[in-house]
Amino acid sequence: MIKRRSSRLIQVGNVSIGGAGNVIVQSMTKTDTRDIKATLYQIAQLADSGCETVRIAVPDMEASQALANIKKKAPIPIIADIHFDHRLAIASLENGVDQVRFNPGNIQNPEHVTAIVQTAKERSIPLRIGVNAGSLAHDRNETNLASKMSEAALEQIRLLESMDFDLIEVSLKASDVITTIEANKAIAEKMPYPLHIGVTEAGLPKAGSIRSAVGLGTLLYLGIGDTIRVSLTTADPCEEILAGYEILKSLELRERGPRLISCPTCGRCEAHGFYDLANTVEAQLQKMESPITVAVMGCVVNGPGEARDADVGLACGKGKGVIFKKGEKVRTVEEPEFLNALMAEVNAIS
Ligand code: SF4
Repeated sequence: MIKRRSSRLIQVGNVSIGGAGNVIVQSMTKTDTRDIKATLYQIAQLADSGCETVRIAVPDMEASQALANIKKKAPIPIIADIHFDHRLAIASLENGVDQVRFNPGNIQNPEHVTAIVQTAKERSIPLRIGVNAGSLAHDRNETNLASKMSEAALEQIRLLESMDFDLIEVSLKASDVITTIEANKAIAEKMPYPLHIGVTEAGLPKAGSIRSAVGLGTLLYLGIGDTIRVSLTTADPCEEILAGYEILKSLELRERGPRLISCPTCGRCEAHGFYDLANTVEAQLQKMESPITVAVMGCVVNGPGEARDADVGLACGKGKGVIFKKGEKVRTVEEPEFLNALMAEVNAIS
């Protein structure tokens, strides 16, 4: 059981972040924010896949105005993502967003930050201080990148606290996994606010998911992290949600949908079409919500053991396979029936 860092609780719309609550899964829309219809459609898809809060880029005033309409119909809380221009943060707050993320690397004027904080304070809306390694101020004196990031965030925290504002969330992201881990470890000890964690610009889905799993998994195992985002180069942000939940499920921090155990196969596997079978089972399981464990195994070496330990399992053999349910052998099936017979048992208990 992982012992979570005890952080302050903040409220982003109807989602609680921090405290002893769930680690919240977040993504970001990839649409042009000014295209309200397309952005709402993507938010709905994200919400369906389990996304709990969504960040939206606000590159100009037209985008910040669009947030008013997006907010009215969005099924999950909206976070405005602001760079360079503090007036966009103020307009987004006025248009009803649930949180604003601003980047202290490119909004450096304390008067501009003060104006954002005042507007957030009037509305009791939380702010995220979002530090990125790639957009730090150039004049920092710290000797390493992780320290530069954590000190940059701490300076902003002190500024917000000096205004008696504590609805704060912090994120420190780098594309380098070790820097991300070290920066977050450093700041987690120095302030009480919830942390949004992620490895930024992690890459294409395969490598990006692995790099995110290493970075986020390490931090989460240490109890650090109240919300996560897996940042992937993909047209479909729902892939980020899938990866995020896999990370949380593997650490037993969240339950969502079935877990598939499938063997890698080797020279002992005599089942034809085993990869197609495993892929089809995975695709069908992804549509389900019940947190059951399903095993698809290639032979009798580990097959019966894993299949018996799962809620439903199939141990394949030559031309035949054995289906187990809740530890009991249910039936023997012929190879052409593997998929239908397995899924019939899965559907019966999910
Ligand atoms: S279960 Fe059998 S086929 Fe699968 S990897 Fe193990 S030994 Fe190989």
